[in-house]
Amino acid sequence: MKRLNRRIKFICITTLIVFTLVASNSINHFSSLHNNQTLNACEINASIACLELYNQPILPTPNPNIPQTEQERFLSAIATHFPTVPQPGSYEYILLRAYGAAFIDPEPAVKFPPTVVFNNDQETQAYQSTLAMEKITGTNNCYLQQSAAAALNKARSQQNIPLKSGYGASDCTRNYATNLRFWRKYANQNTLDKVREGKETAILGVVAPPGASQHLWGLAIDLRVSNAKQRQALYNNGWFQTVENDVPHWTYLGVNVDNLPTLGLRNKVVRGISYWLTPI
Ligand SMILES: [Zn+2]
Repeated sequence: MKRLNRRIKFICITTLIVFTLVASNSINHFSSLHNNQTLNACEINASIACLELYNQPILPTPNPNIPQTEQERFLSAIATHFPTVPQPGSYEYILLRAYGAAFIDPEPAVKFPPTVVFNNDQETQAYQSTLAMEKITGTNNCYLQQSAAAALNKARSQQNIPLKSGYGASDCTRNYATNLRFWRKYANQNTLDKVREGKETAILGVVAPPGASQHLWGLAIDLRVSNAKQRQALYNNGWFQTVENDVPHWTYLGVNVDNLPTLGLRNKVVRGISYWLTPI
């Protein structure tokens, strides 16, 4: 009887130990499965579950000095050339949105206008007289700022890339009068009033308002691009399309395509054309 009791006691203890081991193993298995699933989820997006699981954030704590959003990156990139951002909704802000991609160019040699719109010929000339210009090879009188011209000459030495009109100055750096003449060809004061009020934006992809063209800055050119090789040669040399729907218009940005998102520009493909637009 005593022996039987001992045997029962032994069986009970053994069963309890086995049960405990199996149970704890299941819990471990379940929790490790749960961890793996959560880890996978964490790799996709950092959820609150990740924070709970590790009791600390998995992603590095955002550094407040590194701009996070597209818009913050863009405004930070243009800050050296364009420290005072115009009031959202203002005419200047509308122009910065349409033509301001050029301001991301980090090259110190490139000179930017002090404003997105010149009020008259005198203001335009005062800025243009400070620019160091260089001729585009094989043209009559097409001039751009030196680094923009050097990059374009290199692209044109790699591929045959004709100017839109063939060879004229009007494809390249323009004066205030030419900018105004082109505006009057397509638009009028009524259009300008609507642009100012934010009620008209499509015209900005056709012609720039007086004093607001990138062509005044010596950093834009109108080209006749018809194939992918020409396009690639331009991209490789820092030239991109930055004005939505203005197909022949190319802007010198001076950086590699990989840098454009980092500098806050937003890629938008319209009818097969890849534009790099401001995110504001
Ligand atoms: Zn143009």
